[in-house]
Amino acid sequence: MNAPSPRDLWHARAADRIAAGIDGRMLINGQRYNATDGQWFDCISPLDGKVITRVARGQAADVDRAVAAARAAFGDRRWAGKSPAARKKVMLAFAEQMRAAREELALLETLDMGKPIRNSLSADVPGAARCIQWYGEAVDKIYDEIAPTGRDALALITREPVGVVGAIVPWNYPMLMASWKLGPALAAGNSVVLKPSEKSPLTALRLAELALEAGMPEGVFNVVPGYGHEAGEALALHMDVDAVGFTGSTRVGRKMLDYASRSNLKRIYNELGGKSANIVFADFDDLDRAAATAAGSMFYNQGESCNAPSRLLVQEDIADAFVEKLRALTPQYAPADPLDPGTVLGALVDEGQTQTVMGYIQSGLAEGARCVTGGCRALEETGGQFVAPTVFDHVSNTMKIAREEIFGPVLAVIRFKTEADAIAMANDSSYGLHAGLWTRNLDRAMRVSRALHVGTVHVNQYDEDDITVPFGGVKQSGNGRDKSLHAFDKYTELKTTWMRIESA
Ligand code: NAD
Repeated sequence: MNAPSPRDLWHARAADRIAAGIDGRMLINGQRYNATDGQWFDCISPLDGKVITRVARGQAADVDRAVAAARAAFGDRRWAGKSPAARKKVMLAFAEQMRAAREELALLETLDMGKPIRNSLSADVPGAARCIQWYGEAVDKIYDEIAPTGRDALALITREPVGVVGAIVPWNYPMLMASWKLGPALAAGNSVVLKPSEKSPLTALRLAELALEAGMPEGVFNVVPGYGHEAGEALALHMDVDAVGFTGSTRVGRKMLDYASRSNLKRIYNELGGKSANIVFADFDDLDRAAATAAGSMFYNQGESCNAPSRLLVQEDIADAFVEKLRALTPQYAPADPLDPGTVLGALVDEGQTQTVMGYIQSGLAEGARCVTGGCRALEETGGQFVAPTVFDHVSNTMKIAREEIFGPVLAVIRFKTEADAIAMANDSSYGLHAGLWTRNLDRAMRVSRALHVGTVHVNQYDEDDITVPFGGVKQSGNGRDKSLHAFDKYTELKTTWMRIESA
């Protein structure tokens, strides 16, 4: 008999894990709970449309309970009162627990939201663990300040944890987005209530268990799964939540500001959508690499990335050749079984997202863009959510597919004549998350980078990334910065303590 293939092995693990039962209860104060009113929602896998488990449908009463637990944990200083070195120890143990559970976490992530298992294993779990480790390692190396006052005073400027942090995160990188909030918020001594997306709640619940096993005190890290308009709204409106780290759509980011103004003016840090421009100038001499990166970055995670370079601006002289290269590359991104380690493009998160993406494809066609490849669903016989990688050429920057975030594997190619045209079009967007540019001309690289109104500019690459650099945008892409030491700014308040020094 033939040995089972790696794909078969992952399917067998998935079947075993589902058969063993996945605990979908919320986790508050170190304990698992059903929703107060006993309601559940089905967690459906986009791989095949089947129910993986049922998950507690958190409501305002559950959020109240979680916030009370978080407040109590903060109030008695069981975590905030530990020395930074002691918190570091627990954070490092937490990261190790995540690494030890790598295969389980990767499997849950892929089953829950459809990304290829190779990415869950090689990027999402290690990236999330590194984030937790990095903030743990950082926290006992940050010093406070003494202000340069006169000799009759000592003025201390200290960073204090804000208190109770609400973290509301999306489904496209569930573990990573959660850890980008958890890392700095927990390391700084806060208590956290995490509300994962209703489309991807499983790894968040498991992370909270792993944190407890690592020695995180009960009540410090709580998870309330549920819908946005129920648990999410209750958390962001809560009078005893001091700050909300939100990652999600611009539409809901607006609501966050409204919730803050209607409640206690809690700090809101919004990390929102994008429609990033990737500009290829004719002088760039390695067009094969530029095309491979343009396609790879666009189709990574099925195009469900906030910083996906979804507007490709190509200089006219090279546009035909460049589009041909893209067309030739797309078969590498044919959708396939996410549990096959060979798959690079998996399933979209759910039927609703597939419909949204197909709607944008129809809109592109209706507005006169030329569909070079793709434009259709795929693997429908699986019952899963698959859309072929799609490239539109001759897109104008005014078309809907150039203006709105599609959040699927759809690339819009826009041709431009001059550097000034490219800058104007790149900046003509309500978003300002990332941008890329490809040129061998150093002056142009500097000029254009400076002119682009975005949070991050990529020069002659697109996907370089590291926990050491901030991630966030301008305009309607939000105001928060995840990652890097700057993320501590969101979860700490500056406090000044003046002391008078009497002369002898
Ligand atoms: P979403 O805004 O629909 O949901 C995000 C989270 O908010 C979910 O947990 C959801 O349940 C919750 N929510 C929804 N409605 C709510 C409400 N009325 N009140 C309170 N909470 C509510 O976004 P999504 O579809 O889950 O994620 C995709 C979006 O996230 C895209 O726009 C993407 O660009 C963005 N994103 C941004 C970044 C970044 O760093 N800038 C990173 C990843 C994703």
